[in-house]
Amino acid sequence: MQTNFTENQLRDPAMASSESAIRKCVHCGFCTATCPTYVLLGDELDSPRGRIYLMKDMLEGQRKPTAEIVRHVDRCLSCLACMTTCPSDVNYMHLVDHARTYIAENYTRSWAQRALRNLLAGILPYPARFRFVARFAPFAMPLRGLFGRVNALKPLAAMLAIAPRKLPKTMPPRNSRVGAGAGRVALLQGCVEPVLKPEYRAAAVRLLNRTGYDVLFAHGEGCCGALVHHMGREMASHAAARRNIDAWWPMISGEGLDAIIIAASGCGSTIKNYGFMLRDDPDYAHKAARVSELATDISQFLINAGLPPGNGRNLTIAYHAACSLQHGQKVTEAPKQLLKNAGYIVRVPNEAHLCCGSAGTYNILQPEIAGQLGDRKAANIARLNPDVVATGNIGCSIHLGQRMGIPVVHIIELLDWATGGPAPAAVSDIQF
Ligand code: SF4
Ligand code: SF4
Repeated sequence: MQTNFTENQLRDPAMASSESAIRKCVHCGFCTATCPTYVLLGDELDSPRGRIYLMKDMLEGQRKPTAEIVRHVDRCLSCLACMTTCPSDVNYMHLVDHARTYIAENYTRSWAQRALRNLLAGILPYPARFRFVARFAPFAMPLRGLFGRVNALKPLAAMLAIAPRKLPKTMPPRNSRVGAGAGRVALLQGCVEPVLKPEYRAAAVRLLNRTGYDVLFAHGEGCCGALVHHMGREMASHAAARRNIDAWWPMISGEGLDAIIIAASGCGSTIKNYGFMLRDDPDYAHKAARVSELATDISQFLINAGLPPGNGRNLTIAYHAACSLQHGQKVTEAPKQLLKNAGYIVRVPNEAHLCCGSAGTYNILQPEIAGQLGDRKAANIARLNPDVVATGNIGCSIHLGQRMGIPVVHIIELLDWATGGPAPAAVSDIQF
């Protein structure tokens, strides 16, 4: 696509990166077929190609974002299916991230939208705050139906839909050394996951220990920054990245780490992007690049770590590939292979490339589209008639868990169960 950015504009590294992405687009439209919002809404401006035009116009003209541009960019899930499909290697991720930052800096949202976004950014990344607020969710449950009927309150209804009826017990992170000599890894602690699904971390530690790795937790680490990153809050996301790099660096530069393991693929995509996010920071660019190199999805790690074969109890598993794993990190085969090696029968639903609608805080900010995508995904999965649904991201498991009448678990819970660990909490009451 021809561009007309000025030399002065291109001195801004973010603008230069966006220009390079836009120039690569040849308007072929292949990406439209795999874009969930285009598939649902059928509007060119809700397709990757349409959004690229809108973002080009806004950035090149340094225009104040209009409500129309903001609406179409907001509707993008950042699922990155378009990047998997694109034959021209357009880096849509960096382009839409830049557009979101530009919008956050140059557009004034309604007070309700600002309040909602501030609420999400001020609570979700902080486990103690999130746990405190989640305790009150059951008292607001009776209002869910009412909230769902008022447009401005639909996000609150969506928040209540994902809030747990009862909070699980907290499990503080504890280093777990087995001294088997395989190596040592740091495990990302996460923010939402330890509050809603602490059992994921426990399963991850057992699996890593079972392959002979010591598991360490870094002091001072926090949310990876993905939640605020996708809202265009660049300062907050970069601050989160720097804080985490500072937390891991003594381990990396001291005894060394074999990997930084991430069991939530949404966080993995973001940490693998730290090198790009901080590329112009002289104090952090090198460290950020190293952290991104070490960042590894747990399935990517386990497939090479020699997990012993397991007893899959002849269960049929529907594998739901999280977008952040299949499109963001291009990890496609490892989760399925691990499940098969562990003795499970693995099935993949139709339209596996389409997002389930969870997408970080998308299911709260865009509840209607997220709901339609979730229902579509659940129907495709149900056609497989599986015993259990497995995924590699907490957001997907919660979003799909509301829609499936069968357990939805993390793949590491199934791998742990098959290789000697306890049954996943979601399946422990069911006799297989
Ligand atoms: S990231 Fe996903 S929703 Fe956004 S344009 Fe690309 S395919 Fe469409
Ligand atoms: S597939 Fe790639 S090159 Fe073709 S329109 Fe989409 S973004 Fe542009």
